[in-house]
Amino acid sequence: MHSTWIIENGTLLDPATGEHAAGDLFITDGRIVDAPPDDARTFDASGLTIMPGLIDVHVHFREPGNEQAETIESGSRAAARGGFTSVVTMPNTQPSVDTSEQVAYALQQGAATDKVNILPSACITTERRGGSLADLQALAAAGAVAFTDDGSTVSDDALMRSAMERAATLGIPVMDHALDPAIAGNGVLHDGDAARRLNLPGIPSEAEDTIVARDIELAAATGCAMHIQHVTSGPAARMIAEAAARGLPVTGEATPHHLALSDADILSDDGNFKMNPPLRSPADREALIEEVLTGGLAVLATDHAPHLASLKARGIRKAPFGVVGLETALGITYRLLVIERGLSPVEWLRRWTQAPAALLGRPCPSLAPGAPADIVLADLASEWTVDPSTFLSQSRNTPFAGHHCQGQAMLTLKAGRITWSDVDTAT
Ligand SMILES: [Zn+2]
Repeated sequence: MHSTWIIENGTLLDPATGEHAAGDLFITDGRIVDAPPDDARTFDASGLTIMPGLIDVHVHFREPGNEQAETIESGSRAAARGGFTSVVTMPNTQPSVDTSEQVAYALQQGAATDKVNILPSACITTERRGGSLADLQALAAAGAVAFTDDGSTVSDDALMRSAMERAATLGIPVMDHALDPAIAGNGVLHDGDAARRLNLPGIPSEAEDTIVARDIELAAATGCAMHIQHVTSGPAARMIAEAAARGLPVTGEATPHHLALSDADILSDDGNFKMNPPLRSPADREALIEEVLTGGLAVLATDHAPHLASLKARGIRKAPFGVVGLETALGITYRLLVIERGLSPVEWLRRWTQAPAALLGRPCPSLAPGAPADIVLADLASEWTVDPSTFLSQSRNTPFAGHHCQGQAMLTLKAGRITWSDVDTAT
């Protein structure tokens, strides 16, 4: 009975149809239906917006190997709290996801937790070393939804080309952490004002621009879908937008932190502002926002990267790269893109649902009868302030402590079952 609902008096926001209007939603046995079911749980959604659950194509759940920072279970709880119903996990665990057994493990742990759909990505190269290709066919057969060496780029052009040729025949996208290690060197912040002010080594934007240019050429040559992860540089964002406009199978993602912050926000030697690629200049940030608003960067993704507080407390030079993002993504991006920059709510939602689904070759999430009841009820008027001590993630490493947000998931359902609730659902 838990997955049968009458959800009344809400506002429906459907990325598949563009509908944004008052309405009710009915769910039977985990699927959306067109008539009120019998024996349903009734929920009054007055003041709430009912929409398909968000999809995050870029999360790190640290299991196996670093379960103190995050497990598939704790990460899944954080995702559900953030309004997500599906996530693509990155393969840089220990061991890395470069065998079908590791793909199966992620799927099995995800199914056991059952809070969010775990869609594992797998390595392009064995142990992410960039030396030899992993068995992409076996990884795809085991259920990998994308190939990436995230954390590193594949800098050998010929190797990347053969990976993309194989991925194209498998119909699976390649995602690239596009940063040339030879140019990035030992940098820890953007090669700009904050790095100079704090006397820390910089990562030039050219490290990203050169690899993005290469990846676009390879997409054109191979026909393989190429997704650029966590775009930070204005020129790279424009290259991706132009490639997509030319009809090439190229997409790019922007993270909430690269959209909402720049290196001008790094005021002290705080490891919570260290991520890879780094916060860029205010001009880069503005270019990213423009490309997200116009759809040149079609995908939003968190790059949720949990780390122990003790490691992040070491200061920017020594702390590991990465910040958590699942529990702040909705409120940060809704406030920035919709409230401050005037993006329509449905276009905002498409960047978290339709575009990620399209990248993965899946149908557009929808509220239509027959669709799975993977949905979120959000209070998009709610203004709130980020308090990391409340996170369900096992880690707290966010640059957004005290940041002002608007929009919050109040009830998240996966196949009609509650995975997060901040409301009274008893009837
Ligand atoms: Zn990355």
